[in-house]
Amino acid sequence: MNRFDTVAIVDWSAGNDTGPAPRKDAIWVGLTRQGHAEDPIYIRNRALAEDALSSLIEAELSAGCRLFLGFDFPFGYPRGFAGALTGTDDPLAVWAWLEARVEDSPKSNNRFDLAGEINGRFPGVGPFWFNAIKREIDDLPRKDTRAGHGLPEKRRAEEQSKGTFSCWQMGGAGAVGGQVFTGLPVLERLRRRFAGRIAVWPFEPLDRPVSFVEIWPGLINPAVKEAEARGGIRDAHQVRMLARAVSRLPEARLKVMLDVNAPEEGWIMGQGFEDELTAAARDTLQPPPLRDDCFALPAGVDWTPVDEALAMLQDRLHPVVGREDVSVSEAAGRILTEDVMAQRSNPPLPNTAVDGYGFAYEALGDGNQVLPLVEGRAAAGLAFEGSVPSGHAIRILTGAALPNGVDTVILQEDVTLGDGEIAFRPGVKPFANTRKAGEDVKAGDVALQSGRKLTPADLALASAVGVDRLPVFKQLKVAVLSTGDELVDAGQEAAPGQIYDANRPMLAALIEQFGFDCLDLGRVPDDRETLRSHFDRAAREADAIITSGGASSGDEDHVSALLTEAGAMAEWRVALKPGRPLALGLWQGVPVFGLPGNPVAALVCTLIFARPAMALLSGQGWMEPQGFDVPAGFAKNKKPGRREYLRARMRKGRAEVFKSEGSGRISGLSWAEGLVELPDGELAITEGSPVRFIPFGSFL
Ligand code: AMP
Ligand code: MG
Repeated sequence: MNRFDTVAIVDWSAGNDTGPAPRKDAIWVGLTRQGHAEDPIYIRNRALAEDALSSLIEAELSAGCRLFLGFDFPFGYPRGFAGALTGTDDPLAVWAWLEARVEDSPKSNNRFDLAGEINGRFPGVGPFWFNAIKREIDDLPRKDTRAGHGLPEKRRAEEQSKGTFSCWQMGGAGAVGGQVFTGLPVLERLRRRFAGRIAVWPFEPLDRPVSFVEIWPGLINPAVKEAEARGGIRDAHQVRMLARAVSRLPEARLKVMLDVNAPEEGWIMGQGFEDELTAAARDTLQPPPLRDDCFALPAGVDWTPVDEALAMLQDRLHPVVGREDVSVSEAAGRILTEDVMAQRSNPPLPNTAVDGYGFAYEALGDGNQVLPLVEGRAAAGLAFEGSVPSGHAIRILTGAALPNGVDTVILQEDVTLGDGEIAFRPGVKPFANTRKAGEDVKAGDVALQSGRKLTPADLALASAVGVDRLPVFKQLKVAVLSTGDELVDAGQEAAPGQIYDANRPMLAALIEQFGFDCLDLGRVPDDRETLRSHFDRAAREADAIITSGGASSGDEDHVSALLTEAGAMAEWRVALKPGRPLALGLWQGVPVFGLPGNPVAALVCTLIFARPAMALLSGQGWMEPQGFDVPAGFAKNKKPGRREYLRARMRKGRAEVFKSEGSGRISGLSWAEGLVELPDGELAITEGSPVRFIPFGSFL
């Protein structure tokens, strides 16, 4: 979201009133408020549109909102016209000129006569042409027989944009000349009615609450076509989608698009940024696909250090999920797509932090104070309507807005209450026990930052500052499956050679704890075709796939074999313990994290690699788990070459590690409350020497 609270896009029409039922080629207004789209509004004629725009501006101004009001017709004419017509190059002089002469009503207007009259002031034939009425008009050719009028055919903006019409053409399919004639007088009247509060882009700096901006839905045509294919009225889609695109633009991008120099002709906002605008307009804001080579490893590398492996993932992955709006009550754990601004200050009014008595500090004299009490009291949610006269005090309760005449509050415990008066000792400080309006957060400030995973406290903040819906990324959906002929599910009969699938419940629970949506695809035997069909389903239904087992390069390692066969796999030999090669690849564009089957290695690799990678995919951005340097509660001589993760927990201020480093010991995983991370190099650890402890909670 950007600095505009409200974005309204108007599709103007020079046509006559076409009746009450919503139809194309009438006037349509698309509206977003605080980034939330409202249904497009149909307005049957220009007189009603002028009233509606006037009411909209008035309402936005009185709500203290900043309004972006876009219109789909040129704000200026090709260079030279303004000067020839009005004697000045100021395009706004043309607005005033037209306003004084255009006669317009829902059923008819004088645009053709006026165009002919203007043509009479220019040499040759033109610049205006096209006459849609029966009667001949002096100086206005029906066909384009213009010559010698001396003006360019198009503005520079139109010269650079395919599919634009010249504003000289006063009628016919797609023509814009009539819209300029009937639109500019309305804008001119609005400017006058709200003098000083409307700025016209790009002729005036946009430092007023309302900005008039020239826009053109042609710039987002591909997105509009997609929407139209699903039905509905084109004009309605255009205004709806363009309003959303503008409201979705980050402040910095909006700034770039508004930064143009076209003092006489004006410009079409977003021209030159069509792809960006179109992407922001789309109904399903689809992120770009991952690159095929996102998991490729540099050739010839034997063992990749952990930090290098992580840097590669960080570099190559990006969000793969779309966006949606959810209510605050549903937003815990979700990830914000945009900065969220405070709609209201917290606190909204100056108020009291304690129960006590309020008065004006200035009226206090020296020594002990005795102040008469006014009738009534101020309580939270119950404003005291009157004023408190200077030298008087009022009973006031925590959270109550300070009544007029009160700027300081004394604690009730510091007061002796008499009959209709209070007494207290000197020494009260000015503004004591009060909170200023907005001292916590001011309206318009960024309350929550984009990329944030929303905590319970964030929901309190959003609510306090008047935000009820939040723009978040759709939940990342992660498919989980286990591979191995030896596996059976919990509850099933297990033959002697079989083991229970321990990884899948663990990984599924982790996915949920990370805040993602888990798609449990079950167990797959060591059979390539079965695995293939599971991958196909996962790629259709999920955003990422996590597998365990079969990730090395043995005969029965079908995960790596299948990904290799698809030409989309890299065997990541990362220098860490525990952990064998990871199989990372793309299956039909969906990233696959092929974990080792050993549960200890599966958990460590998930936390160290899959977690931060999935954080990126989910829109949260790269994630580094917070570790703490603590004294070791153990001794160990660590060999050089690999980073090691030990199952650990904190007891008595020291990190203790599990008695065995055996990688099949699932009981040690369960015993642990975090990991001790030992650096890549050689290290002699004795009791009390510092080691890094990362609690499991740091990965969530
Ligand atoms: P793999 O990576 O498939 O070679 O498996 C390595 C070890 O982990 C073998 O001993 C497997 O039996 C074991 N393993 C594989 N998947 C699981 C699982 N889902 N639960 C428990 N152990 C597993
Ligand atoms: Mg296996």
